[in-house]
Amino acid sequence: MKVIRNIKKIKTILSKARSEGRTIGIVPTMGALHQGHLSLIRRARHDNDLVVVSIFVNPVQFGPKEDFKKYPRDLKKDALACRKEGVDIIFYPPVKEMYPSGFRTYVEVEGLSTVLCGASRPGHFKGVATVVAKLFNIILPSRAYFGQKDAQQAIIIKKMSSDLNMPVEIKILPIVREKDGLAMSSRNVYLNKEERANAVILSQALAKAKKMFHSGKNSREVILAVSGMIKEKKGAKIDYICAVDPQGLGPVKNVKNSILLLLAVKFGKTRLIDNIII
Ligand code: AMP
Repeated sequence: MKVIRNIKKIKTILSKARSEGRTIGIVPTMGALHQGHLSLIRRARHDNDLVVVSIFVNPVQFGPKEDFKKYPRDLKKDALACRKEGVDIIFYPPVKEMYPSGFRTYVEVEGLSTVLCGASRPGHFKGVATVVAKLFNIILPSRAYFGQKDAQQAIIIKKMSSDLNMPVEIKILPIVREKDGLAMSSRNVYLNKEERANAVILSQALAKAKKMFHSGKNSREVILAVSGMIKEKKGAKIDYICAVDPQGLGPVKNVKNSILLLLAVKFGKTRLIDNIII
């Protein structure tokens, strides 16, 4: 396994692999790898000849008051995990390599990037779309792997690659959870003991929502019940709970084909997201 920090170098290696007809899978991450990331890596390993994991804490997707500086970073541990999963290359560029001085070009997926998480985190999805577009152009992967955990991100990336005719197959894999149901996230380490215990309510509330939708309740009733459950937990502050159509992110009242229920809730200073497709 190689750790490569330089764009020119990785392009040269991958161009040779492509010319030999080898397929390339990319798993874009910000590091602090957990089982959620590893599930994407395993799938990429299964589907492709070459697996590239990018580890890049992308400054452009963090707001000025967000956790860019304190975001957990541990290359040594991540590299060990990647090696164990049979990753071929970790792409680990410095910020200057991705955003040299004078950088001016950004990708905006209109409409989809300003709602839900985009409303509370202005500029976040512009940063995400831009860095993913750059990674696609650098790696030129056959397939790219993302998690349903970041449902809005997955929708935006699919839309971007389709709108911009990017020759890559986007694969979205299920949410990996802790034993008690909490969706795995690199940010879970920020939670103190009490917050961690309270955060279990999110997956419990989504499970309840699923039952309610199946028994014929509408979005308003479901959202009311979900928010009631979450508000009972001390210190939980709801950012949003929304039922939307899984393609366009428009609001949905009743389940017709499928419905995406998403939520963002703060426990102390830590903002957690979770979702379910019904
Ligand atoms: P991140 O490092 O948080 O930017 O995440 C990198 C990729 O891993 C994204 O596509 C995430 O959606 C995915 N991911 C993060 N957490 C999970 C999880 N619990 N289950 C599945 N995929 C995940």
